[in-house]
Amino acid sequence: MFYFDPLYLLFAAPALLLAMFAQWKVSSTYAKYTQIRNARNITGLQAAQYLLRANGLNLNVSGTPGNLTDHYDPRDKTLYLSEGVARTPSVAALGIVAHEVGHAVQDAQGYAPMRLRAFLVAPASIGPWIGYILFIAGIFINASGLVWLGIAFFSLSLVFALATLPVEFNASQRALAMLRSSALVGQGEVEAAQSVLTAAALTYIAAAAQALSTLLYYVFVALNLGRRDD
Ligand SMILES: [Zn+2]
Repeated sequence: MFYFDPLYLLFAAPALLLAMFAQWKVSSTYAKYTQIRNARNITGLQAAQYLLRANGLNLNVSGTPGNLTDHYDPRDKTLYLSEGVARTPSVAALGIVAHEVGHAVQDAQGYAPMRLRAFLVAPASIGPWIGYILFIAGIFINASGLVWLGIAFFSLSLVFALATLPVEFNASQRALAMLRSSALVGQGEVEAAQSVLTAAALTYIAAAAQALSTLLYYVFVALNLGRRDD
């Protein structure tokens, strides 16, 4: 169990398959809609500047390396766009940019789920490490309380993954609403943008499923330890 437990695969496999499917879905949907030029022929960068202005936001827009790495960083109030999105006048770029502007609007409005998620970043990154140490220590000294405390720390990953969902879904809702009410989109382009955002949303659901399956595995191990003691 300390090295590799084949049983872990059994717990992890469904969520892993979902994650792989989500990754494929987001890549293929993006690949499809990045080829389709938007009716107004505006690039992601132009759309970002337009939508920020439309929302009364005066924020920096900067480049970021990689593909589909677009994000809004609330720490420096900057919208980071990948080159493929910033420079391409595609339907995909409209959807992705509007989603990131959606995050910027959430930040400007002090949207509570976003603040909760930001608060959880640090606990969720160190929680699993502390959890693992407590879990292993609990097994070694045969202290079930310690094992369950470890599991409680592990659960911070799941809490974080779940807290991410409303923030992401809401950013996409805002994105579609702002595209609909703007003069940026042509016929059928909101639906195309929606396809890209729905595929992206699936990756966050997959991440939550992965956190859940890992947690369930540790719970299963802990329950079996208890049974062995009886
Ligand atoms: Zn997002």
